[in-house]
Amino acid sequence: MIVKPRVRGFICTTAHPVGCAANVAEQVGYVRGRPALADGPKNVLVIGASGGYGLPSRISAAFGAGAATLGLSFEKPPTETRTASAGWYNNRAFDKLAMEAGLWARTLDGDAFSDDMKAQTIDVIRKEMGPIDLVVYSLASPVRTDPETGETYRSAIKPLGETFHVKTLNVDKAEVHEVDLEPATEEETQATVKVMGGEDWERWMHALADAGVLADGCQTVSYTYIGSELTWPIYWHATLGKAKEDLDRAASAIDAHLKTLAGKAKVAVLKCVTTQSSAAIPVVPLYASLLFKVMKEQGSHESCMEHVQRLFETQLYGDGEQRLDEQGRIRVDDLELSDAVQNEVKRRWPQVTTENLDELTDFAGFRYDFLRIFGFGVPGVDYEAEVDPQRIEPIG
Ligand code: NAD
Repeated sequence: MIVKPRVRGFICTTAHPVGCAANVAEQVGYVRGRPALADGPKNVLVIGASGGYGLPSRISAAFGAGAATLGLSFEKPPTETRTASAGWYNNRAFDKLAMEAGLWARTLDGDAFSDDMKAQTIDVIRKEMGPIDLVVYSLASPVRTDPETGETYRSAIKPLGETFHVKTLNVDKAEVHEVDLEPATEEETQATVKVMGGEDWERWMHALADAGVLADGCQTVSYTYIGSELTWPIYWHATLGKAKEDLDRAASAIDAHLKTLAGKAKVAVLKCVTTQSSAAIPVVPLYASLLFKVMKEQGSHESCMEHVQRLFETQLYGDGEQRLDEQGRIRVDDLELSDAVQNEVKRRWPQVTTENLDELTDFAGFRYDFLRIFGFGVPGVDYEAEVDPQRIEPIG
C-alpha cells in the first residue's frame, strides 16, 4: 500500500513503516556520533519506550553506553490492510538496529500499569538480563486501571479553580483563536493524579526491588514538565501539574524503599517538545511553535534526542555536578526557561494572530515534528512507493 498521513486534530491515524524506521536510525546515528557515556548503564528498563522521550532514552542507553535494554510500550500492531501505530514500527526498528550492533534488546507490548506486565518484565530480567541499574519511567497515558481495585481512571487536562480564558491554536486550520477552558472537578483532578501521578512508578520500583532484580546503586528517573507562566494555568497549576507533583512524593518513597541498595529516584524536568502526548494539550501547540522559533533563532533549540542525550551525558552519567532544584529534581529545562528565551516568547505571545502565525512562530516546525512522529516527511524516504504495513523495510 501507499501510506499517506491521515490527521484529525492532534492524532494521525496512519504511520509510515519505512519513515518510522528512518527516524529511529537518525536518532541512533546522532548518539553514535557522541562520545560514549562515561560509566554508563549496563542493564536498562525503559517503561514507555516506543516514542516521545522514552525512545531516545533507550537509544542513549543502548548506543551511548552499550547497555542491554528492555523496553515496554502499548502499541497497535499492523494488519494486512492497516498500518501499525508509529511506536510499533519504532520498536521494530530499534530492535533490529540493536541486534545488528550486537546489543541485547527485547521489547514487550502490553499495559504497563498491570501487575501481569510487571511479572512478565521481572521474569525476562531474571532469565535474560543482569540486575537493572537504570529504570526510566516515561509513560504518558490518558487512562489507567488500578490493578489493586480494578477501577479505571481517565485523566482530564483542565485548569483548576476557575475558567481559563486563553489563546490557542487550531492545528488543522492553522488558526489562532481564544477559548474558555472549564476547570476540573475534584474527582477529575484525583483521577488525573491516579493516571499520571507517581503511584505506578512507585509500584514498579517496589515490585522490581522486592523481586531482587535491581543492581546496587540502581537509579530510576521519571520525566516531568514545568514550563513557564504561559502554560501554568493548563499544566503546572492544573490537573496535570497536580499529578506531576505526586512524582515528587513517589521519588521520596522510592528512595526510602531502595535504601538498602543505595538506589536513588529522581524526577527530571524536561523541555517542551512535540510528541503524541504534548500535541493533545490545549495551548501547547501554540506555545511550542513560539518557543521553537525563539530557541532556533537563539541557537538553543534541541530535538527530543539531543535533549535526552544531554540529560544522560551531563546529569545521569558523567562526573559533572547535577543541576538540582530545591525539590531535588534534575533540571534540564534551563535553556527553555532562560530569561532570553522566555522574555521573547512572552513578548510575542499577545501579538500572535492567524495572519502572522508563520512569521512570529515556528508553526511549520511544529507541524513538521508532528508528522515526523508518524514517519512522514523524513528526508530520503520515498512516500510514493508501495510499502508492506507489516515490515519496516522498503519493498524491493
Ligand atoms: P508519548 O506519548 O510520546 O510516549 C508515551 C509512551 O508511553 C509510549 O511509548 C507509549 O506506548 C507508552 N504507553 C502509554 N500507555 C501505556 C501503557 N498503558 N502501558 C505501556 N506503555 C504505555 O509521551 P511523551 O511526551 O514522551 O511523555 C513521556 C513522559 O515525558 C511523560 O511523563 C511526560 O509528562 C514527560 N514530558 C513530556 C514533555 C513533552 O513536551 N512531550 C516535556 C516534559 C516531560
